[in-house]
Amino acid sequence: NGEHIVVVGGGSGGATAAKYLRRFDPNLQVTLVEPNATYHTCYGSNWVLGGFRQMDQIAQSYQALRDTHGINVIQDRVTAIEPDAHQVRLAGGRTLSYQKLVLSPGIDFDWEAAAEGTSEATADRIPHAWKAGPQTQILRRQLEAMPNGGVFIMVAPPNPFRCPPGPYERASMVAHYFKTHKPRSKVLILDVKEGFSKQGLFMGGWEANYGDMIEWVGGDRGGMVNRVDVANRTVFSDDGLNRYRGDVINYIPPQKAAQIAHDAGLTNEAGWCPVDQRTFASSIHPDVHVIGDSSVAGAMPKSGHSANSQGKLVAAAIVNGLRGIDAPEPSMVNTCYSLITPDWGISVAAVYRYDDGSIRGVEGSGGVSPADADREFRRREADYTRGWYRSITTDIWG
Ligand code: FAD
Repeated sequence: NGEHIVVVGGGSGGATAAKYLRRFDPNLQVTLVEPNATYHTCYGSNWVLGGFRQMDQIAQSYQALRDTHGINVIQDRVTAIEPDAHQVRLAGGRTLSYQKLVLSPGIDFDWEAAAEGTSEATADRIPHAWKAGPQTQILRRQLEAMPNGGVFIMVAPPNPFRCPPGPYERASMVAHYFKTHKPRSKVLILDVKEGFSKQGLFMGGWEANYGDMIEWVGGDRGGMVNRVDVANRTVFSDDGLNRYRGDVINYIPPQKAAQIAHDAGLTNEAGWCPVDQRTFASSIHPDVHVIGDSSVAGAMPKSGHSANSQGKLVAAAIVNGLRGIDAPEPSMVNTCYSLITPDWGISVAAVYRYDDGSIRGVEGSGGVSPADADREFRRREADYTRGWYRSITTDIWG
């Protein structure tokens, strides 16, 4: 029937939405716009830093979306969204008209809120590696070049940010690499926050596997970083009271919805995209649905699994909407697995429902791994972590 849906961003949310739109209605014409020919998942990128995964093992292609699912994948960047005209403009010069637009462009960095001395231009020397790809490789090479006995400093981002357990899994993976190759080295995490996701499980796992190799300095102990002297690889925290010299600095800046969402006027004062949490239709331009990290999704964390769940929901909401049927009552899920060593996995899971204007966790659902599990239990969770990677990437890009 020729109805045309345009999806912007071929990451976790966008690729899922494109695939499930075609699955729910094979007559729909679906176009996916994504600038990169290959997508590198952030999930698994910490394992690359740990030295036991290669970049090509976290690479996803768009071939199945094109060939198996009949999606028109255009390798280009959207430079402007015109909600009133229902069209998007591409850097390559084309204009695409849509009936509904799905936007899943991920995050960008809020350099204005970042520490003094840091900017987009310093990311090649103090990489964030919070978008996987070249940044992951820069950080990996710096770790490889670091001497035994060196110090890795991670500056963790303030809330809200993509992947709440991500910084702490990264610290674990860097410690794993050090333990096996540079055992006199240290991992120091400077954190503006006073607590973090799965904290007890991480800290228990760190002690059991790495002794005192990893140190976490939270916001109540002066972990807030105000300035970075990039040339001298020195980090200043607690209003300059403390200074730390690192051999490798991983500065993860504060985050906001991706730039295209800002340019299109889809963001709120906090820098994220408010939506009707039942359909993910933008509260500002309702024919644009925003999913994934850019959106404000109630209690759901900014994760690949959340974006995947939201991609399916938005596909169902759009297909129903075009047929004049009510959107489904959303029930969504998220699991975040983290590896502390290649044989020690931990997880947090939750089920969500839309209730009274917002997405909320279902009482009694989900939870975290038990605190007192034995090594065999942790080893099984590490296997589930790799299984989760295989199944979610197949669900999204397969
Ligand atoms: P993305 O997946 O980032 O996709 C956005 C896409 O939009 C990109 O491909 C980009 O190129 C494209 N784009 C941007 N602007 C434009 C434009 N103007 N035009 C066209 N395309 C555009 N999540 C988990 O569930 N489990 C994990 O274990 C996990 N581990 C993580 C570890 C790390 C170190 C990090 C950093 C993240 C991790 N995440 C994990 C989080 C997960 O990667 C993100 O939450 C998820 O990818 C968000 O999906 P998204 O679709 O919103 O954005």
